[in-house]
Amino acid sequence: MLLERERFPRFHIGESLLPCSVAPLRELGVLDAVEAAGFPHKYAAEFVVGDGSLSRRYPFADSLLGGSPYAFEVDRDRFDAILLDNAARAGADVRQACEVRDFTVGDDGVEVVAGNATLRASVLVDATGQRSMLAGRFKLRRMDPELRNFAVFSHYGGASRGSGDSAGDITIVLVRDGWWWVIPLAGDRTSVGLVAPAKALRGSKPDAAYFERGLAESPYLAARFDAARRLAPIRTASDYSYSASQLAGDRWLLVGDAAAFIDPVFSSGVQLALGGAFQAAAAIDAALTRRRFSRAAFARYERWLRRTERAYRDFVRSFYRPETAELLIHPTDKLKLRQAVTSLLSGHGADAFAVNWRIRLFSVFARLNRDLKLTPRLAERRSGARELRDR
Ligand SMILES: Cc1cc2nc3c(=O)[nH]c(=O)nc-3n(C[C@H](O)[C@H](O)[C@H](O)COP(=O)(O)OP(=O)(O)OC[C@H]3O[C@@H](n4cnc5c(N)ncnc54)[C@H](O)[C@@H]3O)c2cc1C
Repeated sequence: MLLERERFPRFHIGESLLPCSVAPLRELGVLDAVEAAGFPHKYAAEFVVGDGSLSRRYPFADSLLGGSPYAFEVDRDRFDAILLDNAARAGADVRQACEVRDFTVGDDGVEVVAGNATLRASVLVDATGQRSMLAGRFKLRRMDPELRNFAVFSHYGGASRGSGDSAGDITIVLVRDGWWWVIPLAGDRTSVGLVAPAKALRGSKPDAAYFERGLAESPYLAARFDAARRLAPIRTASDYSYSASQLAGDRWLLVGDAAAFIDPVFSSGVQLALGGAFQAAAAIDAALTRRRFSRAAFARYERWLRRTERAYRDFVRSFYRPETAELLIHPTDKLKLRQAVTSLLSGHGADAFAVNWRIRLFSVFARLNRDLKLTPRLAERRSGARELRDR
């Protein structure tokens, strides 16, 4: 049984998927529907400095571990509706506009109060996203003090984009205070948003004027959005990263953002939610067979999720240090470190030893870069102080 507070389709942020999401979409039987929806293919992630003078493209085809060479840039209202309809088709009892208001977890089962009904089940999966209903009630949520950011974003029509295989690339634009995402969506719409530390607001409100000033300040963004018009309201989101100190317990599991939210710079959110959901489903299937629902029955799931979210969190934290961003713009091919970063950007997380040790080494290089200046510094170029030059 799937209880959903909203009625789909509904707006949601989180539009850029990773190539590793393609396999679970195929397994769910929705890949054809996702392809038919006309979402742009995303063949690479690109990092650009704010003045547009330097950039680095990471094509997913270079990943160490193969897999799909592309992902999708999705409108979440349509994408999420495809997944929800599929759940109903596969036999789930899907109830929309049905908010879970209360729950109790007992020795014999769980009880949930939703809409006007009280429902009983063997296991409760909390997939309430950033609301983290269960982690909130059990006081398990731990904020990450290093990643206290905010996000402000909107949709524009008519922004320029690349051609051929680059047309669907996500672009991460490094600016003085943080970074912008530029995500080409279907038609001529583009999702664009800024993520920055809360202190970067310096007393300003993150309103339309603030947003448009920020777009104009980066020569790179100003050029891309020169002929664009805003199509949607300016939205803000708390972008504080967190994770729950416990990810499963007796008769319950946390999945997706309800378990952990990691700053979106590497677009890992949907991938973690999808991958976690598959792992959780396998754990619950085994628990139902054995009729054992204690936390120990979900230990493997907890370990997998903890490892995976830590791998992303560590890398995301290091992204906010200038020397790592500098290395991302000037990566080294030695020991296939660039390909390992590409693998992480594709969604190959902590499960892959070949990726893991290289990412650790990449972080060591980044630390060395701080003192030894292995790559050019970017501070001035991030601020947009320079003229836009040929890229
Ligand atoms: C600024 C920003 C940018 C992001 N960009 C990206 C990106 O580019 N790529 C990416 O992969 N991820 C991105 N993310 C992360 C992404 O949005 C999430 O990781 C992803 O949506 C998590 O999916 P989920 O299913 O766990 O939660 P959600 O997608 O939030 O779904 C939770 C669902 O639970 C329902 N719900 C909540 N409470 C109740 C209740 N009490 N009863 C019943 N239903 C309830 C909600 O209505 C909602 O439909 C971004 C996040 C932010 C904040």
